[in-house]
Amino acid sequence: MGVIKCLPQVDGDLGWYLTAANVKQSIGRPLKGQQRADIVVLGAGFTGLSAAQRLKELYPNQTIAVVEALDVGQGTSGRNAGFIIDLPHNVDAQENTPEQDAHIRRLNAFAIERLQNWREQFQIDCLWHQAGKYLVAKETANLAGLDAFEASLQKRQDAYQRFKRDALAARLGTDYYQEGIFTPGNILMNPAALVRGIALGLQEHIDFYTRSPIIHIEYGDEIKLHTVGGVLHAKKMVQCTSSFTDVSALTKNTIAPVFTYGSLTDPLPEHLWQKHFHHIQPWGVTSAHPAGTTVRWTPDRRILVRNILEFNPSQHSSEQQRQQAWQQHRASFEARFPFLKQVDFQYTWGGVLAVTMNYQSVFAQPQDNVYVICGCNGVGVAKGTYLGYYMAEMMHGNNSEALEFIRQTSQPTKVPPEPFRSLGAKWRIHKEQQTAGLDI
Ligand SMILES: Cc1cc2nc3c(=O)[nH]c(=O)nc-3n(C[C@H](O)[C@H](O)[C@H](O)COP(=O)(O)OP(=O)(O)OC[C@H]3O[C@@H](n4cnc5c(N)ncnc54)[C@H](O)[C@@H]3O)c2cc1C
Repeated sequence: MGVIKCLPQVDGDLGWYLTAANVKQSIGRPLKGQQRADIVVLGAGFTGLSAAQRLKELYPNQTIAVVEALDVGQGTSGRNAGFIIDLPHNVDAQENTPEQDAHIRRLNAFAIERLQNWREQFQIDCLWHQAGKYLVAKETANLAGLDAFEASLQKRQDAYQRFKRDALAARLGTDYYQEGIFTPGNILMNPAALVRGIALGLQEHIDFYTRSPIIHIEYGDEIKLHTVGGVLHAKKMVQCTSSFTDVSALTKNTIAPVFTYGSLTDPLPEHLWQKHFHHIQPWGVTSAHPAGTTVRWTPDRRILVRNILEFNPSQHSSEQQRQQAWQQHRASFEARFPFLKQVDFQYTWGGVLAVTMNYQSVFAQPQDNVYVICGCNGVGVAKGTYLGYYMAEMMHGNNSEALEFIRQTSQPTKVPPEPFRSLGAKWRIHKEQQTAGLDI
């Protein structure tokens, strides 16, 4: 019997969820009484929904259920910065071979197309736009991150433009950054609206149990997932619970839960928009430094700030931690937009990244009828979408080059046991935040 010790909770004011056009539409019902499914997918993020949809296609006559602790869109899939990243790029990851890069690129393109198709099919209003992405640096020391990125783009012959301060300022509406590299393929959106829209579309053929934290799981020929007052009996389970996954030694020593935080403004008042942004297209920037700040200017005229990395095994944030995050967000925001000091953040929230040491994910079958995906690091919108699809393919016995690549590159290295895990993770994060300087 697996007792689940750590459950997700709502960490603050979830800006994307609360401003999503579909927030009032109801998805699923709480899991109460005795329920059955042939296959249960635990976790309704991008990974779980992608797995569930492909399973339904492959097993049209079987009952597929999705169980989610919160409302759909309140989990990390609905709390992230809303970048669907097309390029193989982790700012501080080890370099891939050209073949690996080509595979990741194809898989990201596949995920973007899959999400795009759902967006069209289910008519999801989620501010989806192909804005591309700027990788930016303020500190001279961090220009090295841009140089390394540029070298990888040149090697792969990817399209890009590199801008100095003035040209960048004309595009972003802030002259904060020294330089930036623009790549065109990235998508920006409201992630809570997108993940909710997908679930709303899928619930015609898939059973959704929401606001249903699973508190323990009984493994065996039949899997029993228990909520308070309910049990779901299933023949197979696909666990897509990200950092909350704790099913076996396989995942236990591979994932480090790292908290990060976002803040979002209300739409800028008309006079400020007219004065500073009327000629600026919506954009998204990530930092050339791994601990730097992500910023977005959205199509509905809001500004998002995301930063802070905290090793946080509790996987929950306190009001005090969110207040500290808010203070850092204000400092980052006012440094970039000194002319917007009177604009408040209406929403500040935290969310947990499932980080692995070598950036590879867990994609595994620890038991005959149990399948696990977790550890998508900071690129889970695209990665979770393709891993979910290919997990269903693997369960069905479908082989492909893409699946083989995923299997070979899903070997996360072990993190050291406690207390070394905590000490090592804290030291690494501290060091990175110190060297980021004004890029935070
Ligand atoms: C602030 C922030 C910004 C980010 N920005 C980006 C970005 O711009 N682009 C990007 O690609 N990635 C980004 N990420 C990472 C990305 O959000 C994750 O990689 C992604 O959400 C992983 O998706 P998932 O479906 O695997 O897991 P999740 O989205 O975490 O989904 C797992 C679900 O399982 C549910 N669950 C867990 N335990 C239980 C239980 N016991 N019972 C029932 N349900 C349970 C959770 O409630 C959750 O909804 C960001 C993350 C954060 C925190």
